[in-house]
Amino acid sequence: MNELKHKIFQTISEVADQMQVDTYVIGGFVRDIYLKRPSKDIDIVTIGSGIDLATRVSQQLKPSPKVNVFKNFGTAMLKFKDMEIEFVGARKESYQRNSRKPIVEDGTLEDDQNRRDFTINALALSLNKQNFGELLDPFNGLEDLKNKTIKTPLDPDITFSDDPLRIMRAIRFATQLNFEIEEETLKAIARNKERIKIVSGERIIDELNKIMMANKPSMGFKLLEETGLLQIIFPELQAMKGVEIVKGIGHKDNFYHTLEVLDRIVPNTDNLWLRWSALLHDIAKPATKKFIDGQGWTFHAHNFVGVKMIPKIFRRMKLPLNEKMKYVQKMVQLHMRPIVLSEDIVTDSAVRRLLFEAGDDIDDLMTLCEADITSKNTDKVKRYMKNFQLVREKLKEIEEKDAIRNFQPPVDGELIMKTFNLSPCREVGLIKDAIKDAILDGEIHNDYEEAYAFMLKKAEELGLRLAN
Ligand code: ATP
Repeated sequence: MNELKHKIFQTISEVADQMQVDTYVIGGFVRDIYLKRPSKDIDIVTIGSGIDLATRVSQQLKPSPKVNVFKNFGTAMLKFKDMEIEFVGARKESYQRNSRKPIVEDGTLEDDQNRRDFTINALALSLNKQNFGELLDPFNGLEDLKNKTIKTPLDPDITFSDDPLRIMRAIRFATQLNFEIEEETLKAIARNKERIKIVSGERIIDELNKIMMANKPSMGFKLLEETGLLQIIFPELQAMKGVEIVKGIGHKDNFYHTLEVLDRIVPNTDNLWLRWSALLHDIAKPATKKFIDGQGWTFHAHNFVGVKMIPKIFRRMKLPLNEKMKYVQKMVQLHMRPIVLSEDIVTDSAVRRLLFEAGDDIDDLMTLCEADITSKNTDKVKRYMKNFQLVREKLKEIEEKDAIRNFQPPVDGELIMKTFNLSPCREVGLIKDAIKDAILDGEIHNDYEEAYAFMLKKAEELGLRLAN
């Protein structure tokens, strides 16, 4: 096995033999060898002291890397080249009902494999010379890898109840690897869903973000929904599911529409926050839904209501409450604008206003809007895409001409106050807004001379006098 030819494994092998301790590389790194996914995180299990082994290995390497020891956990970590290697003694774990923290005691390799979450994560390769590279696979993990199956090594009800983070991990691995969750394992997830409440929000969001960054995040969200977890961890998204029919008129299922938008944006961005914007763009549709005779279903101001819902969602889900959240809010607020624009004749003034509001995020906004066009009617989609092209061209043209993107008015409040000897007052704001509007509407250019002349005119209308 080529991956084991690396110097680090040769060194660990020699030291383990000198110390006469059976030693293995285990878990995700081994799984990823068979999946041909290069990995830099290496977990070493030894039937002895992980800390002693790490210390001796470090002494053998040139230059000797620093060993980080975590005494409480009995583990040690060192970095070598671009790899992170963690050493631990084999352990046996037992759990109590109210905590995901196990009681730990020394154990055999078998005990250590028993405590792993999935059969594909329990594979171990021996590193001792006498059986170097031998695969120890007590639960047929290799078979499950070939069949693309996620399955727990032991009784799934116990595995998930012991540490319910494994529920999120199962769904995350299924989504990342495009694997199926074995039937009994899936049923046990549904049965144990309430146990997720003992897992911290931070751990849940870590897994959810990995689902968001997968190639087909919809798969994870569908699994969360089917197993009843979505209702617990993300009720706002759950509320989007379903279609109501009044007087024979239905609306689209906003849950599945949202997932389609999310999948559609994936090939066009690795920006997690743009993906979150896709997931949340219609989040207020259930809250704003109304059937109006003659109009059918409406979702009036769902973008603005969505913006208001976001801080509560972000706080509860332990997402950042900083400029990343503000960016998502901006995307959600503006998500209909380019579409509305493309439905009409695309005027310079409308494009300038959009550029002014979106600023540097205009390209991301266009990416979101394009992903949002999910109609089954191919003619309609084609028409939208063509109009979008037009909006993009117009955006480029106007940006080159008027530099609106990071618009700073050429005449500011200070100058207005000085010119007319004013302290801060309503008139200053009025003139400032009028100048901004005149530029965005194309009445005047984004230029000092023209803005100054416009200011004088506006001030005269308001009856203001020049300062002496
Ligand atoms: P990734 O790097 O994509 O997260 P990984 O499998 O390497 O995948 P880690 O979280 O680094 O994930 O875990 C390393 C190994 O530790 C896993 O392969 C698994 O054997 C074990 N493991 C991790 N978390 C758990 C858990 N909650 N329950 C049981 N075993 C776990």
